[in-house]
Amino acid sequence: MKKILVIGACGQLGTELTLKLRDLFGVENVVASDLREAVDLIKDGPYEQLDVMDKSRLDEVISTHDIDQIYHLAAILSARGEQNPMLAWDLNMTSLLNVLETGRDRITKIYWPSSIAVFGPDTPMVQTPQTTVMNPNTVYGISKLAGERWCEYYFQKYKVDVRSMRYPGLIGYKAKPGGGTTDYAVDIFWKAILDKSYECFLKPDTLLPMMYMDDAVKATIDLMQADPAALKVRSSYNISGMSFSPSMIYQEISKRYPDFQIEYNPDFRQQIADSWPDSIADDQAREDWNWSPSFDLAKMTATMLDNLEAQLVSTK
Ligand code: NAD
Repeated sequence: MKKILVIGACGQLGTELTLKLRDLFGVENVVASDLREAVDLIKDGPYEQLDVMDKSRLDEVISTHDIDQIYHLAAILSARGEQNPMLAWDLNMTSLLNVLETGRDRITKIYWPSSIAVFGPDTPMVQTPQTTVMNPNTVYGISKLAGERWCEYYFQKYKVDVRSMRYPGLIGYKAKPGGGTTDYAVDIFWKAILDKSYECFLKPDTLLPMMYMDDAVKATIDLMQADPAALKVRSSYNISGMSFSPSMIYQEISKRYPDFQIEYNPDFRQQIADSWPDSIADDQAREDWNWSPSFDLAKMTATMLDNLEAQLVSTK
């Protein structure tokens, strides 16, 4: 079997996606890679320390392992991007173009994630449609929108089989988030258990689209397995899991932790969150590749708390 390369495998999504791909296709067939040294959870399989900005090193890794498919996840996310816009633009664009170029000769399938950050303040906020006004006002959103256009360009012009979806905020317990505006929805669980109090950087009523990690990983693998003829969107698919605000998740966690306290001190991330949709319409993904989520707020909260509690007990 030819092999899969995951780029950005030590990140919040990459760690969990690598574990699932190794479950499905065999540990030896999934090469994990990242700029940094391998994190513990993915250490037991093939690993390459790789800077995806270095195209010749990327080509070398592809040849060494006989790579056939790439999941390209390396990026600088929304909040970190605003702190260093030029670095975010450079990494998010150059890395994608390096990977898309490999699709012109040797790689048969590429996955690259976009984000709800492609939308902006002029976008309809409720049940945001697949095709709509998109005027993103963060460097991250601008880079993801440009990336979507590049993906469609490479598909149309060079027949590169590149697939993509616009993730909402991702929530999981295995890896910590890497600098996005929705990171609060992971941090709040850790703080609820460890400190019984949380200082939130968004206002209580800030409604945002979110997704539990298992749903995101399943969606990603399902999209990559889908019949190419069924895929009508070659920029990036809308997908939806759930929508909630900080006060809603606080109330849900308080059912198990009645003493849990929250304080709201919005910072620069509030402005980013305000420019993003409240909820996403994902009919096209449901129609083309049978997408449907399994986790709502209650199920996600219970799963996060169960797993974090178990993790903390085992490390005591
Ligand atoms: P993350 O920040 O947790 O992980 C990104 C990884 O990329 C890190 O491990 C980092 O070391 C690595 N990386 C950075 N520069 C690199 C380079 N030059 N070469 C190789 N690796 C490099 O991000 P994540 O949350 O796992 O996100 C993965 C993808 O999903 C990104 O494209 C992101 O834009 C997208 N996405 C994530 C979310 C979310 O809520 N996490 C939401 C929407 C979209």
